[in-house]
Amino acid sequence: MVAALLETTPANYTRCTAVCESNTELQGELIVTTESEPLPAPSPNPLRSIKGRVAVVTGAASGIGRATVHALRNEGALVGALDISFPADHASTATSSEANTDTLLRRRCDVSSETSVIEAVAAVRSHFGPIDIVVNNAGVSIATPIADPSFEDGWLRTLEVNLTGQTRLIRACLDDLLRNNDGRIVNIASTEALGGTGGMSAYTASKHGVAGLTRSLAVELGKSGVTVNAVCPGPINTGMTQGIPDENKAIFGRRATAVRRYGEPHEVADVIVSLTLPSATYITGAVVPVDGGMTARNQ
Ligand code: NAD
Repeated sequence: MVAALLETTPANYTRCTAVCESNTELQGELIVTTESEPLPAPSPNPLRSIKGRVAVVTGAASGIGRATVHALRNEGALVGALDISFPADHASTATSSEANTDTLLRRRCDVSSETSVIEAVAAVRSHFGPIDIVVNNAGVSIATPIADPSFEDGWLRTLEVNLTGQTRLIRACLDDLLRNNDGRIVNIASTEALGGTGGMSAYTASKHGVAGLTRSLAVELGKSGVTVNAVCPGPINTGMTQGIPDENKAIFGRRATAVRRYGEPHEVADVIVSLTLPSATYITGAVVPVDGGMTARNQ
């Protein structure tokens, strides 16, 4: 039996003591607001903040990468935004709305080149300091029907960018990530890491590879405090899906997902940011669908 004792305090909230007479373990205190004046603001937990942490994001010019740069900067991180499509000398060609700032450094980087990745990371490090957060997001989606004469070209390019590229960025940042035993790595996979689509075997294999890379590195780096997780976006409105007519997207979103729609890049970016928090110490090796419930849905 539970008795609730209510008492209004001078601080304008009600102290409600719920006493379970038959189970002393359940005895406790619950504080509920009853008046317009809010409770005193809780003191911020620094472990839930990435303010001042240095992040690198690949594929940062578009879609999920661009949204992730935005979300990380919103939370106070200093971000090296890397993309193959940024001009080589971005500083002299950027418009004022894109210009590099105290919290953003844009730099051209091709993740299929080890030299390009090493140079880009060195530039971010010399601008902001050692790297704390790696977001491996750059990706290409190339149709690779198995009988196609160009299959092998598509296969090699896809693996090079989507999978090997991720190892290059991690290796270039590894000493930085290990230095305080709290580095964060988030690899972008796909629901193609959990199932497959016909005609896309290179992409599907690359994303299964990202899941494997994530799990193995999580185990390898677990003792160090560096966490490694993967995010698996479902169908998201980005450059990668812009060729699909809106009508087809609407039909697919309704039919395939639980939320009945395509997702937006910021909905993936917010999950990525959560995995980069200093407090996210006990999630590693996770392969997390961010797919509007697509993989949960049977019909
Ligand atoms: P996007 O095309 O909008 O962005 C991809 C970015 O990667 C582009 O800016 C491109 O210039 C960059 N890029 C490509 N090759 C590169 C290279 N060699 N080096 C550096 N940058 C390179 O697509 P997106 O949907 O935002 O893709 C981001 C990630 O999300 C990819 O890994 C993709 O596989 C994954 N993903 C997307 C979806 C989706 O529905 N959009 C679903 C699942 C997974």
